[in-house]
Amino acid sequence: MITQKQNRCQISWQKAQQQSFSNPLKLLDFLEIPPSVYPDLLFKTPFAFKVPYSFAQRMQKRNIHDPLLRQVLPLMAENDLSPEYHLDPVGDQKSIKQPGLLHKYPGRVLLTTTSACAMHCRYCFRRYFPYHDANPLQHNWQTSLDYIAQSSDIHEIILSGGDPLSLSNTKLQHLLHNIHTLTHIQRLRIHTRNLIVLPERIDTGLIQLLSHYPKPIIIVLHINHANEINDQVVRALLPLRQQTHITLLNQSVLLKGVNDNLPALQQLSETLFNTGILPYYLHLLDKVQGAKHFAVNIEKAKYLLHALQNSLSGFLVPKLVTEITGEQSKTPV
Ligand code: SF4
Repeated sequence: MITQKQNRCQISWQKAQQQSFSNPLKLLDFLEIPPSVYPDLLFKTPFAFKVPYSFAQRMQKRNIHDPLLRQVLPLMAENDLSPEYHLDPVGDQKSIKQPGLLHKYPGRVLLTTTSACAMHCRYCFRRYFPYHDANPLQHNWQTSLDYIAQSSDIHEIILSGGDPLSLSNTKLQHLLHNIHTLTHIQRLRIHTRNLIVLPERIDTGLIQLLSHYPKPIIIVLHINHANEINDQVVRALLPLRQQTHITLLNQSVLLKGVNDNLPALQQLSETLFNTGILPYYLHLLDKVQGAKHFAVNIEKAKYLLHALQNSLSGFLVPKLVTEITGEQSKTPV
């Protein structure tokens, strides 16, 4: 007999996505939390509420401080227009060379392949990104690919977004094929949160596509808390680890009320490693408008890094970094 849990694992990722929560009240109801607990809940926001069912299942029922819930719940604090917080906090728009292509750092370019994500994280630094103008639809990818073809000093392409794994396998295959024809490109990097928040996305077609790709692929996941990795995620990631030669790294954002304490960061690093993922970056929050309530001050961030260094093996300690507009790489803190 197929249990409801097994059945949910086997449905397509598109179907799983359709079952996402799009109303915060419905999520609170699912979590058995009375909405009166959140008098500051925000209902009208241009950055829509969106949470996959399987991610909600990893939240603890009746826990109003759940670290996963905090990442997705829109609060009135988002309307705080603090002057140090900006619509384009890391200078993305200055780096746009073609619609959908950002050339910020030497040797690599980033493609914002889609505006879509399986989940909307309230602290997202691209929540105001002008995807409408800068989104390379399939016919526009050619202008980006032409730019890369003419730049022999570019060796690495980063697929980002939104989330590049919001694209269908067919569209991804088309893009990957075109990238493969660029002989000076040595490797491909995919930045994604979809594989974690919507593990159904790791389907047979994606595994086949990635396992047959001839150039090295690095997948940089985005996981902020160990509770994001449950059995379903571990099972879904297995074929990626066993059937492909992909390197799995993780980047987290240091977020107030989510992971800004030593036990949470230790557990995150240990769980990542046990799942075959190397902790890579721990980012200070990018100062995007509406995310100030997630900020952790730099002294506390340094203290936490120091405490992590004193308690974990070196390979479990992510690099603490920040992004400064105009710099040629991430800046170590
Ligand atoms: S998945 Fe990444 S790009 Fe999408 S909303 Fe979350 S942080 Fe932003």
